[in-house]
Amino acid sequence: MFLSDLTQYLESIAPLAYQESYDNSGLIVGNGQMKITKAIVSLDCTEEVIDEAIQMGANLVISHHPIVFSGLKKFNGNTYIERVVMKAIKNDIAIYAIHTNLDNVRHGVNQRIAEQLGLVNLQILAPKTGLLSKLQTYVPHDRAAELRDALFEVGAGHIGNYSECSFNTQGTGTFKGNDQSNAYVGEKNVTHAEPETKIEVIFPTRLSSKVLKALFNTHPYEEVAYELIPISNQHQEVGSGMVGELTQECNDEEFFALLKNSLNTPVVRHTATLGKKLKKIAVCGGSGSFLLQNAIQMGADAFVTADYKYHQFFDAEGKILICDVGHYESEQFTMDLLVEKIQKKFPTFAICLTKCNTNPVFYSV
Ligand SMILES: [Zn+2]
Repeated sequence: MFLSDLTQYLESIAPLAYQESYDNSGLIVGNGQMKITKAIVSLDCTEEVIDEAIQMGANLVISHHPIVFSGLKKFNGNTYIERVVMKAIKNDIAIYAIHTNLDNVRHGVNQRIAEQLGLVNLQILAPKTGLLSKLQTYVPHDRAAELRDALFEVGAGHIGNYSECSFNTQGTGTFKGNDQSNAYVGEKNVTHAEPETKIEVIFPTRLSSKVLKALFNTHPYEEVAYELIPISNQHQEVGSGMVGELTQECNDEEFFALLKNSLNTPVVRHTATLGKKLKKIAVCGGSGSFLLQNAIQMGADAFVTADYKYHQFFDAEGKILICDVGHYESEQFTMDLLVEKIQKKFPTFAICLTKCNTNPVFYSV
């Protein structure tokens, strides 16, 4: 199988367009034309993981965290980043990162954490805006169904659990073609009135070229009338963190036990307990402190995340229980998520979890 077969699949579930601006998700080492034989999935791409790949005859490492975030200027092997990249290149091993783009999609990192905690009624904690557009176009009545289908086919008209969403109104379009025109209906130099359907659909802006291609390929007119409008609605399927509910409310001690057991962590750093039952829980894998106000606004009783600093704990203000479960601990199930998805899509491809524990943080308890 070509590397591009796999990366195209990964980018269909977690489009690169959804990564944060500081991120460097995607193919970091290697090119799409190389044939891949075996892959290792890890949270971090360390030298140890590259050594493991060499030993196992794997020529692809898929990690959640990108080994390279910003420009490398020297390749002397003075830092672990340079050494990892150099060793991978020397040994024809490709490195692929699927980071904040996988954090930001509904079926990604945070849903997996929520499932691990047994949360239900899940929704994205901070849906992103500015990712959607609306297309309005005008088509003869008898061609409207065909055009709608073509637009749906390329991903327009999906809202939450619904597909094939559109709004249709009927009216009259007018036009007069000149001598060079080649109109679908009507005659040259004669004003024509045609009964038309106005179709309105929304779609992720990243699909614009596909949607326009479907429009132009399917619409019968020589000159297609349409408007493409950026909209500021939230994208319900894309954003940071997740919020959901425990099936049964619990007290603080029960909740800490749940965190330790289900996230396999020896310690939870947390703010003062509030002495109330916990039911609504917000989660964000990795460094999630930027979502605290969203969690409070959503009425979450607790916020489970990582990388909290001393002063940031004060921001709880007695409104919410902040629980820092550790960065690696919060994201470790991302590896299982990736292996399962890839195995399902490519059942005969050899993919496995790394045996290295790449967590750089140790606990003495
Ligand atoms: Zn992380």
